[in-house]
Amino acid sequence: MPGNINQHHCARCGSIAKPRCARQGHMEQCKIHNVYHNSRSECVRCKEQEKREEREKRRAREKEGKKANRKADPNNKENTE
Ligand SMILES: [Zn+2]
Ligand SMILES: [Zn+2]
Repeated sequence: MPGNINQHHCARCGSIAKPRCARQGHMEQCKIHNVYHNSRSECVRCKEQEKREEREKRRAREKEGKKANRKADPNNKENTE
C-alpha cells in the first residue's frame, strides 16, 4: 500500500506535490483538509464530505417529509385553523 494518500502527485512535476506546487499553481491546496489536489478537480475529501452531508440532508428531509405529509393530511384536524 502506498504510504500517504494525502500526497497527490503533481501533474507538472511528476513527483509528490510540494507547497511550491501550490504556490506555482500546479496544484491547489485544500485549506480545510490541508491536502493537495489537481486544480481542475475538487479536493477528494471535500467531495466525500459533500456526498456524506447530502446523504444526511436527504435522510433528514425524508424524515421531515413524512412529518409534513402527516400535517398536510386533510383528515388531520391539527391542519385546520
Ligand atoms: Zn508541481
Ligand atoms: Zn478538502
